[in-house]
Amino acid sequence: MRLRAPLLPLRAAAAAGRPPGQLENKTKGRLQKQICGVVLDHFEKQYTAELGSAWSSVRDVLTSPLCWQHALLLNRFSQSPDLERSLSEQGYHPAFPGALPYLPAGLKCYLRRSPGRFPAQKHQAGRLKDYYLLNAASLLPVLALEVGDGEAVLDLCAAPGGKAVAILQCACPGQFHCNEYDGLRSRWLEQTMESFIPEPLLNLIMVSKLDGREIGDLKPELYDKVLVDAPCSNDRSWLFSSDTHQATLRLMRRKELSWLQFQLLRSAIKALRPGGSLVYSTCTLSKAENSDVINLILGSCSNVVPVDISAMAKAVSQEFTFLGGLHQHELLVLPERGRAWGPMYVAKLKKI
Ligand code: SAM
Repeated sequence: MRLRAPLLPLRAAAAAGRPPGQLENKTKGRLQKQICGVVLDHFEKQYTAELGSAWSSVRDVLTSPLCWQHALLLNRFSQSPDLERSLSEQGYHPAFPGALPYLPAGLKCYLRRSPGRFPAQKHQAGRLKDYYLLNAASLLPVLALEVGDGEAVLDLCAAPGGKAVAILQCACPGQFHCNEYDGLRSRWLEQTMESFIPEPLLNLIMVSKLDGREIGDLKPELYDKVLVDAPCSNDRSWLFSSDTHQATLRLMRRKELSWLQFQLLRSAIKALRPGGSLVYSTCTLSKAENSDVINLILGSCSNVVPVDISAMAKAVSQEFTFLGGLHQHELLVLPERGRAWGPMYVAKLKKI
């Protein structure tokens, strides 16, 4: 469902005496997607402390779905000769410049500065989809992973499969293991792969439903590359929680996520062969789930070292806004009007 922006600015809605749980907005009689006041209050405190003055413009984007943008990741396995021309006629341009340290020819992503969403493609039996709609910042972890042909790759938390599809646009891994713990989401992952990846390649992909925390012990030192796109607070969607009670519970249990993320990373490190590298990503701004988790890993696992990804960040700085002051092995994409990508945290480590 397409989200709509609140009719009233947030402050005005609050001043209008709305209940503290949800800020209600109606346009022409239709109920609008509502911002969850409990979550907004919580973020307000935390992110003002963590991001300082940057938070107010980030909040402006996160609470205004009408300014959200979507990018298109083209599917190299489905040739649609007119699509690129049609995109450029509609004001879309390639997301990534040639100067990137790693940009395989197969990875084509288009975006435009104005908000709005290209129509999603319906599933058609026997036909691969031409493009995947996504937040352009979701491709940064994939670019940072630098997968090469023939490598053994593990996507530890893979559903619904956007990054797995993107990895397969970049390279043809020798082995591709996609894991998703949740049964329903794992089915969703399989459907995504079936919609984008042709039969012969599909047969090379292994999909499992394991607890990612156990994979390191089950498959030690097997993979060249591991992506840990971790379960996280998902700031964008939490702000629109429709159930205040559920939102409150989520916020109370937020601290547990950092521990889960740490355990997933530890497992990923075990699963990496020496010399292999991993990328950790989340779609939250929360320091506790980002830099703090990576610092804890670096402080407790002597067999991993940080990898500098600043050249990649510099090369894409025209399209993405980053939080300043982070280390060279990490980046945090801050959504801003006209470049409403993220939140997305990315960090890269190498096993020695
Ligand atoms: N990489 C995905 C993509 O690009 O489409 C998005 C992954 S989402 C951020 C995190 C996923 O981790 C969720 O689908 C969640 O169900 C899954 N997850 C949660 N706990 C897990 C665990 N212990 N092991 C593996 N996956 C887990």
